[in-house]
Amino acid sequence: MRHIAIIGSGPAGYYTAEAAQKAFGDEVRVDVFDCLPVPFGLIRSGVAPDHQSIKGVSRRYEKVALSDNVRFVGNVTIGQDVSIAELQELYDAVVLATGAPKDHELGIPGDDLANVFGSAAFVGWYNGHPQFAALNPDLSGKTAVVIGMGNVALDVARILAKTRAEFAGSDIVAHALEALEASQIERIVILGRRGPHQIMMTPKELGELGELERASPHVAPADLPAQEEDAILEPGLRKSVSHLRAFAATPEHIRAEKPIALEFVFMSAPRALIGNDKVEAIEVEKTRLVHGRAEGTGETETLPADLVVSCIGYRTAPIPGVPFDERAGRFANDEGRILPGLYCVGWARRGPTGTIGTNRPDGYSVVELIQADTESGALGATRKQGRAGFDALAAERNLDIVTFRDWKKIEEAEERAAREGAPREKFVDIEAMIRARG
Ligand SMILES: Cc1cc2nc3c(=O)[nH]c(=O)nc-3n(C[C@H](O)[C@H](O)[C@H](O)COP(=O)(O)OP(=O)(O)OC[C@H]3O[C@@H](n4cnc5c(N)ncnc54)[C@H](O)[C@@H]3O)c2cc1C
Repeated sequence: MRHIAIIGSGPAGYYTAEAAQKAFGDEVRVDVFDCLPVPFGLIRSGVAPDHQSIKGVSRRYEKVALSDNVRFVGNVTIGQDVSIAELQELYDAVVLATGAPKDHELGIPGDDLANVFGSAAFVGWYNGHPQFAALNPDLSGKTAVVIGMGNVALDVARILAKTRAEFAGSDIVAHALEALEASQIERIVILGRRGPHQIMMTPKELGELGELERASPHVAPADLPAQEEDAILEPGLRKSVSHLRAFAATPEHIRAEKPIALEFVFMSAPRALIGNDKVEAIEVEKTRLVHGRAEGTGETETLPADLVVSCIGYRTAPIPGVPFDERAGRFANDEGRILPGLYCVGWARRGPTGTIGTNRPDGYSVVELIQADTESGALGATRKQGRAGFDALAAERNLDIVTFRDWKKIEEAEERAAREGAPREKFVDIEAMIRARG
């Protein structure tokens, strides 16, 4: 029997569990740990609440989670409640699938002012992550600045722009829906250091900005490169740029029909946030591209900013005893191997890139490594106790473990509490989740 501990129940964790089942069949027992009492990582707390079809992938993970040889061990923080060394004593292989939950810091003067948030915090707020549910952003100002030109920036800008009616069918949490309904924001600036040809926005998500009820995207025609230069772009990016061209071509009188402007500001690097206690403005430096990199030109400009959300990437949270690559912001690893018997997968291995599906081959390849290391004897010959050993340790420490069956009860309670047309109303604090399991 092989005993595998997977830390993290997001896509990378469950694809790894699925791969382990396929590779070892009845000869494996997998425990999937999560610090939250609820599974699925960013599927629940990252993917936008108005993109429910994407969240449907969790049904696939549920099939794995409900099999006899896989179990969910929720409400246990590895590195705090139980150490990595203790897990390594109990399991043949320990796989870190902990994602990248920390915001990459802006690192400019004023980034500690009130109403300046990283996207992990802001997205966590509207998605009801217990760590960020109480964020309480102030939406009473006129201008929001979203820093970054990737899909997370698009999510944040779109969520800020939508009406209550446009959230029908979504699982946006009640506190965010109410705050957004009372929002006074009229201008949402999407700020990027580089130009239209360097955006990291996918066409479908960018196109959605053109279909909003009360907001219209603004792109200055002069910011766009000559159209023939689009020919060298890869097809997805070319399609995204064609959306920017369509936004730029929208006549002013059509744009003026909508009260919220979603304004793209290219070639502008944030240099400082300005304000007394709370942010009021952002100073940007105009840039030029040198070998694809943005270099400051020395020319600065100040834009009003009553709310700032930086969407500039994420870092993995270090765990005591696990080698960490500070520069890359993830566990130090060689294609997924960290130390003998210790592996990483998903965002914790490769950083915050790719789609949900990118984590699938990752999960399968880490199981291939485990297979190879088992066969080569690299994992040692000692028989590990696996689940039974962990259960004894959990009892000794008085850990309040949440099982997958418990989660299904929490889920049912969330579904019962849903407002009309919504799939669920999420619990946003850990105690409420635990109470809901009965
Ligand atoms: C805002 C946002 C929107 C996105 N939208 C899309 C989209 O529309 N489509 C798409 O394809 N992709 C999207 N993605 C990307 C997708 O969410 C990621 O590719 C995927 O979630 C990464 O999977 P993961 O398992 O590595 O990490 P995660 O999903 O982050 O899972 C990590 C899990 O580990 C747990 N954990 C962390 N530390 C510990 C610990 N010490 N002990 C126990 N448990 C721990 C966490 O609670 C979490 O459940 C989005 C990402 C973000 C941030």
